[in-house]
Amino acid sequence: MANYDFDIGVIGGGAAGLTVTAGAAQAGAKTLLIEKERKLGGDCLHYGCVPSKTLIKTAHVYHLMKISKDYGLPGVNPPPVDFRQVARRIKSVIDTIQEHDSAERFCKLGAKVEFGDPSFVDEHSLRLNGKTISAKNWVLSTGSSPSIPPIEGLAGTPHMTNKEIFYLDHLPKSLIVLGAGPIAIEMAQAFCRLGSKVSVVQRSNQILSKEDKDMADTVMEVLRSEGVTFYLNTSVLGVRDLGNEREVTIRSGANNKTQLRGEKILVALGREANVEGIGLEGLGIDASKKGIKVDKRLRTTQKHIYAAGDVTGQYQFTHAAGYEGGVVFTNAIFHLPRKVDYTFLPWCTYTDPELASIGMNEKAAEAAGEEYSVWTEEFKDNDRSLAEGERVGKIKMILDGKEKPLGVQIVGPQAGELLSEWVAILNGKVKLSTLASAVHPYPTLGEINKRVVGNFFSPKIFSERVKKGLKFFFNLKGRACGESA
Ligand SMILES: Cc1cc2nc3c(=O)[nH]c(=O)nc-3n(C[C@H](O)[C@H](O)[C@H](O)COP(=O)(O)OP(=O)(O)OC[C@H]3O[C@@H](n4cnc5c(N)ncnc54)[C@H](O)[C@@H]3O)c2cc1C
Repeated sequence: MANYDFDIGVIGGGAAGLTVTAGAAQAGAKTLLIEKERKLGGDCLHYGCVPSKTLIKTAHVYHLMKISKDYGLPGVNPPPVDFRQVARRIKSVIDTIQEHDSAERFCKLGAKVEFGDPSFVDEHSLRLNGKTISAKNWVLSTGSSPSIPPIEGLAGTPHMTNKEIFYLDHLPKSLIVLGAGPIAIEMAQAFCRLGSKVSVVQRSNQILSKEDKDMADTVMEVLRSEGVTFYLNTSVLGVRDLGNEREVTIRSGANNKTQLRGEKILVALGREANVEGIGLEGLGIDASKKGIKVDKRLRTTQKHIYAAGDVTGQYQFTHAAGYEGGVVFTNAIFHLPRKVDYTFLPWCTYTDPELASIGMNEKAAEAAGEEYSVWTEEFKDNDRSLAEGERVGKIKMILDGKEKPLGVQIVGPQAGELLSEWVAILNGKVKLSTLASAVHPYPTLGEINKRVVGNFFSPKIFSERVKKGLKFFFNLKGRACGESA
């Protein structure tokens, strides 16, 4: 049997790689983690979830200051935002979390951490910092990078991606956001709330294009009411640097050309898998910028080399990367044939209102040819929501032809938190009747989960047939007020 330096080698120290590394090292496998940056944590910690959610909170607080009168408080006109202070807060949150993702912590767990640029020399060995290192199994968890499409003039015009936007030294007066996915929309609202004039350019007819249009439109209308300008059905023809400003030429409709001007441009037009520079070509692994091809056990075409996280090009979320890391760990270390199942993988866009989703939405159900029904309940009918000053949003429950849940979407306050109950219900195959009869504390936003199920059961419980039966058996006298009284 070949004698390898390590049982498992992991390339990339983000959510996926850290999950495999922690599991493998704690299980007693001789584990190597290689990271090309100087710190562990990956995109989520340094350029993604953590800085974006920290910024969103800051923007939310500033927004609340500006609308204090809506809450019966004295009106205030807060001074302009000093973005250096905001960036400082972002950095301090990252630094705190960084301690949890430190090389020392992983060393204590039993893993060796190396920093550098690895390149495979054969299917079990790679070169790193002048050494050749071999491992029985390898895991590719190198993540993804912002995609920069070949828009005329873009390469020669200063622009930002998620790598720069959290580290600005001042708040831009104006920001043009190219794209309308979750990153684009979260940043559009946050910068608008902080005081930038924000425009969003989107090729299709809705923002957040994976979501159902009615849910995405709810988010868009709130952002629009706060001052974000949307250009839908619009393509970008070119970009120009004007010195103090940048110019973006857009076309909407048949040939309606317009020039937008802004201090900064944020490019948020999708992601590309980080597959280059690791020597994958020589291994015969099926990899492109769209992602590394894997089977359900997350094995590449080389069965001892796994891939997990954004680099697979599938569900590009931190929790998906963590989940996939766990699946790789089970397969590679315990040799248990565990397969990925994304049926009830949740996600959330952290705008205000948030938009959270699990399972199929209407778009997905239609695409799958499912017969389905939709049940809704609105936040304007939720007492806690009204007390909080939140009137916008709804929950949508999608049932299949046999009245089994296909999915749930929530647009409204704390939608991501509210979705957690559905994570347990759908993954645990809990009956809807159990949710309908479970007592929820009053007044909570969470009551909306119970109410939407109640809306499904009500017509059954209070049907004419049931009423007739009760009248007959218990000699009920009928309505005391209203039409037939
Ligand atoms: C602005 C923004 C906001 C986001 N918000 C959310 C959110 O709220 N919730 C959510 O679930 N997801 C969010 N995401 C997505 C989330 O950040 C990613 O899905 C997650 O980071 C993927 O983890 P990963 O381990 O696959 O990749 P990464 O976290 O990117 O880690 C990959 C690691 O590999 C390293 N690497 C790359 N190439 C090499 C190489 N050749 N050799 C060695 N190391 C290498 C990288 O330096 C990096 O450390 C957000 C993303 C962005 C950009």
